[in-house]
Amino acid sequence: MKISILGTGYVGLSTGVCMAEIGHYVTCIDINQQKINQLRQGFSPIYEPNLENLLQKNTKAGRLTFTTSHQEGLDSAEIIIIAVGTPQGEDGSPDLSYIIQCAKDISPYLTDGAIVVIKSTVPVGTNENIQKIIMNRCNRESTIKMASNPEFLRQGTAINDTLHPDRIIIGANKKEVAEKVGEMYLPLNAPMIMTSIRSAEMIKYASNAFLATKLSYINEIANLCEKVGADVTDIAVGMGADKRIGESFLQAGIGYGGSCFPKDVKALELTANQHGIHFSMLKETMRINNEQQVILVTKAKKRFGHLRARKIALLGLSFKPNTDDMRDAPSIKIAKSLANEGAEVIAYDPVANSNARKILGNTINYASSVEDAAIDADAIFIVTDWDEIKHLDVNILKKMRWPIIFDGRNCLDENIINALDIVEYYPVGRPSII
Ligand code: NAD
Repeated sequence: MKISILGTGYVGLSTGVCMAEIGHYVTCIDINQQKINQLRQGFSPIYEPNLENLLQKNTKAGRLTFTTSHQEGLDSAEIIIIAVGTPQGEDGSPDLSYIIQCAKDISPYLTDGAIVVIKSTVPVGTNENIQKIIMNRCNRESTIKMASNPEFLRQGTAINDTLHPDRIIIGANKKEVAEKVGEMYLPLNAPMIMTSIRSAEMIKYASNAFLATKLSYINEIANLCEKVGADVTDIAVGMGADKRIGESFLQAGIGYGGSCFPKDVKALELTANQHGIHFSMLKETMRINNEQQVILVTKAKKRFGHLRARKIALLGLSFKPNTDDMRDAPSIKIAKSLANEGAEVIAYDPVANSNARKILGNTINYASSVEDAAIDADAIFIVTDWDEIKHLDVNILKKMRWPIIFDGRNCLDENIINALDIVEYYPVGRPSII
């Protein structure tokens, strides 16, 4: 099939590369000339495992091209996928201006029979509004076909998730439109769920808000575990073995972040409000998460009395491992909070240092290795569970002023904790080692 994709971010680029990998002819369109230049040279503007390999392979095979020109990029496209950002606006609702701009950009070049698929996460009713914008501009009501196809990939495993999805949701108001979009995914051999457009839009928000709520739930259980002397990691194993609950998203820690959960939970709560439903459960999900994000700071203050002039090594900055994405990462709040307390913060991330610098600037210092960050530190905060942080070299701890570790992901290798008998170790929801 001939597919065009608008937006070469985490979703658009991963989708483009994977659709080419399964044999389609894909053109990716972005308004960012610098990104397109980089992609044409075979380099990915984002860090995502295995992305660059597939990008180069499929470009070479002639199945993947990049352009900033809508006219060129939409030429004879059967399916046009919109995968641009829908960031949180000032009032908390999603900013749909990028999607609306896409509708305007594609209108002059839509060919008869082409299907416009919205993959970006958008509030219920958005597909209909976008269809109206396109119809008004094209004057061809009968031939504008729309489908909602929300995305569920996870950053850090985006390629694998796109090639092996748990399910594919296709929302369309016409059977033949849903089938045509489904045809694109047939080589993936994945379960497909066909719904109305409105239901498909809703499935995405309902899923993300549920996962975020599951995390806030286990985090609150973790806080209770600390009071009653239980171990949340054992609780998670015991709970997760129940098929009705499932083991994923039961890892207690410093809360969720990233470009999706925070904005999607808020967006769903606002949608509910607009329809007279007070979704107080989501308010609690957000409240617990906000407090959880600074729990390591609270623990450190309790340990040291105050944090003035304490040197804290922040290990990991990206919102999760295997990505360079800093959008709404808990590290931002932690770093700012530590700086406000008068601590000297030195941070290290394997790939996100430069993105972090754009957000945190000189509020903190940046190290080029775990060791660099840890030298003479009063404490380590484990913020992101990158492999190299989980399995850090035990000798590094000997270079700290005090080998005190606050583990926000409950991830530090047990052998490391046991190797140093003077180490102080404070996980989340588990007994501390003092
Ligand atoms: P992103 O910010 O990484 O990328 C968006 C891209 O769109 C940018 O490259 C930007 O230059 C481009 N763009 C903006 N306006 C454009 C236009 N008019 N024409 C062409 N390109 C344009 O965004 P993302 O993280 O890939 O997210 C995209 C959407 O997918 C969002 O709605 C998000 O909520 C949803 N989503 C994201 C993830 C994720 O893990 N990142 C997962 C599932 C769903």
